[in-house]
Amino acid sequence: MIRLRRSRKLRGLISVFMAVVMVMQMVASASAHNSDIFGGTYFAASPISLSQLNFAVINAENSLLTLNVIRGGVFVWGGQSSRVRFGTVERMTNTEYTRRFTVNRESIIPIVGHRFPTTTGGGIVLGEVVAQNQNGAEVGVNSNWYSVEIRLNSNPLAWGVDSISETTRRQRATKTVMHEVGHVLKLAHPARGASSSSIIGHNVSGTSGGVAGWYPRAVMNVGFPNNNVIASAITAHDGNNLRAKWGA
Ligand SMILES: [Zn+2]
Repeated sequence: MIRLRRSRKLRGLISVFMAVVMVMQMVASASAHNSDIFGGTYFAASPISLSQLNFAVINAENSLLTLNVIRGGVFVWGGQSSRVRFGTVERMTNTEYTRRFTVNRESIIPIVGHRFPTTTGGGIVLGEVVAQNQNGAEVGVNSNWYSVEIRLNSNPLAWGVDSISETTRRQRATKTVMHEVGHVLKLAHPARGASSSSIIGHNVSGTSGGVAGWYPRAVMNVGFPNNNVIASAITAHDGNNLRAKWGA
């Protein structure tokens, strides 16, 4: 159910290297009180504990997506809720992760490198989140989750070509990690506002990876991480949703 929805809305892109942070397709049944939050929680039987979230970086690093960049995208969520606390972000082999998660029952979320297919529509997926139940089957965004993983595009070219500054490409990488960690915390893409006066935020043109309209300022917006549609720091909207979901 958690399907990557590739950039099918992306039209008229000038370059296949334009990137889109994409992710989970919203399922029809939205969560109870807030459409910007996924339903469900982590199974009580799952080793994952929100009060001690550790991350295993497994073959996800490249010249831009350094361990420090990944750490920055994770720890930026710290301090937003006393219920959501972060531990370590460290390199691990898949074997080591599996042992520590399944045998030692440590609260670890893998961040893995992934070769996303190149799209014909011009967009490239930079990251996605996939969740599983106890049997390892993929489950939907509003389901209870047993395990969850973040996949990051392992092709350095996907993050930008050499004509784009390294600073810009690193910002994309950081924003992407921040965004995907938000999904791990069961935050969804913000709903579109009714009008420009209803929400202070960004007017997405429709060519930026999302449906045209006004959106709150948020890390969780859909779009290219190379513009300000996706915030570069946790916003009030992001933080409020996190606390609405898990507590202050
Ligand atoms: Zn997303």
